[in-house]
Amino acid sequence: MTRYVFVTGGVVSSLGKGLAAAALGALLQARGYRVRLRKLDPYLNVDPGTMSPHEHGEVFVTDDGAETDLDLGHYERFTGVAARRTDSISAGRIYQNVLDKERQGAYLGKTIQVIPHVTDEIKSFLSIGGDEVDFMLCEIGGTVGDIEGLPFYEAIRQFANEQPRGRCVFMHLTLLPWLAASGELKTKPTQHSVKELRAIGLRPDVLVCRSEVPIPEREREKIALFCDVRPDSVIPAYDLASIYEAPLAYHAAGLDRAILDAFKIDLAPEPDLSRWRDVMDRLSNPDGEVRIAVVGKYMQLEDAYKSLKEALTHGGLQHRVKVKAEWLDAEVFEREGAAAHLSGFDAVLVPGGFGERGTEGKVAAARFARERKIPYLGICLGMQMAVVEAARNLAGVEKAGSEEFESGKGPDRFEHVIYHMKEWSQGNELVTRERDGAKGGTLRLGAYPANLEEGSLIAGIYGKTRISERHRHRYEVDAAYRPRLEAAGMKFSGMSPDGSLPETVEIPDHPWFVGVQFHPELKSRPFAPHPLFASFVKAALEQSRLV
Ligand code: GLN
Repeated sequence: MTRYVFVTGGVVSSLGKGLAAAALGALLQARGYRVRLRKLDPYLNVDPGTMSPHEHGEVFVTDDGAETDLDLGHYERFTGVAARRTDSISAGRIYQNVLDKERQGAYLGKTIQVIPHVTDEIKSFLSIGGDEVDFMLCEIGGTVGDIEGLPFYEAIRQFANEQPRGRCVFMHLTLLPWLAASGELKTKPTQHSVKELRAIGLRPDVLVCRSEVPIPEREREKIALFCDVRPDSVIPAYDLASIYEAPLAYHAAGLDRAILDAFKIDLAPEPDLSRWRDVMDRLSNPDGEVRIAVVGKYMQLEDAYKSLKEALTHGGLQHRVKVKAEWLDAEVFEREGAAAHLSGFDAVLVPGGFGERGTEGKVAAARFARERKIPYLGICLGMQMAVVEAARNLAGVEKAGSEEFESGKGPDRFEHVIYHMKEWSQGNELVTRERDGAKGGTLRLGAYPANLEEGSLIAGIYGKTRISERHRHRYEVDAAYRPRLEAAGMKFSGMSPDGSLPETVEIPDHPWFVGVQFHPELKSRPFAPHPLFASFVKAALEQSRLV
């Protein structure tokens, strides 16, 4: 019997709805329940794949190849449950499905309307895989009152009515602003937000109230009275030093108990929170620190590299060290050289990225790390630029570059050591792509296996030779350069099972130099750090002891 928790937000955006949902998922899981988290985004993009990182932060990729909202990353990091394509849906996708059906004549000549056709489409999505879990947690993106959100709120209202009584609970996040001038905590925006919800037929069972200052009992009672919730279902949520404190903090504040009460579950197993206590202990009491330079493009925007930032932290948790990642803009290296900025770091990481801007700076970063024997991890574009660097400076391919950077007009500027892959196999199917084809959903996406060479650094790190990791890229290292690069000192240590696509490279004559075509950061968890990040941080730690 699946129970549904619908998570909505009000007053302002960025209240940490995703984190609250993820923490609740972790708490229910700690009590022995099976959970799945799901995100419903009211925007009209079909998926976030084509949105700039400035708009929407990182695009999180699932094993089954969906480009999804970064909240799915939180969900995975907090529960360890791998998200699926069906765990992320946008209004754009819903409308696309409805319109496709309309064109196919599936509605038998009916007039297509938001109610029931769009809401039916949303509801059918909500129930997918419901029978596999005890709790399905569904977060609605945006804030109540947004025009785009209305069909979603209406759909969850209908859905709850169609379920047996007591199967759906509504949790609403709001903000209590603190007015410094009058020294008051204001509950009115919360009251309005709840009023807005009730006007569209939703009554919150649990209110999570974000506040910068402690919420006095009196205010809690007031909120309960005016918002029609029970006082013990008004859950305070204060700012935390680390997101990983959220499960413990929400448990202490009574969130999981309030949700179970709303479902009338009196006898639930006590949660085993030891995993989260261990994470917090490691995080709060580190034995040292490493400094890692992350050389990329969207550096002002932390959310653009959300999973990467977390995976680095996890790598540190493994060895009980604090990872101080500094985010450097690759373009600056093009003007001022890499050495001026990278000296003093214990390791260099070049993450994924798209487009030519800043790439010469990334090549310079890879060269610096290779020559100075500083640990280097190149992810996706970061691996491609390390290969370009080695091709130019070790293998004598002077004009080595990526086809991604050619305009397509006029003669090519580079020799394409990195080329545009137009055909590949996915399972038993052949996938083909045009260079100038549509941008949405045309990358090599999702989990692909790779074979690692016995005895290589990377095989040692993983402790096995067959791995599966998530991809999100259009270009590939050309395996035709393998003999020249290997002769020059860069080993192709991991290949696609058919041997055609380089998946990992390394430099044997270097303490720790690894490039991977995939995104290991997507599969790292605080309680199960990804082996590549754990090993990279260890290499940085060893480097820090050298100097
Ligand atoms: N831009 C490169 C490609 O499409 C790398 C992509 C990435 O780093 N995610 O292949």
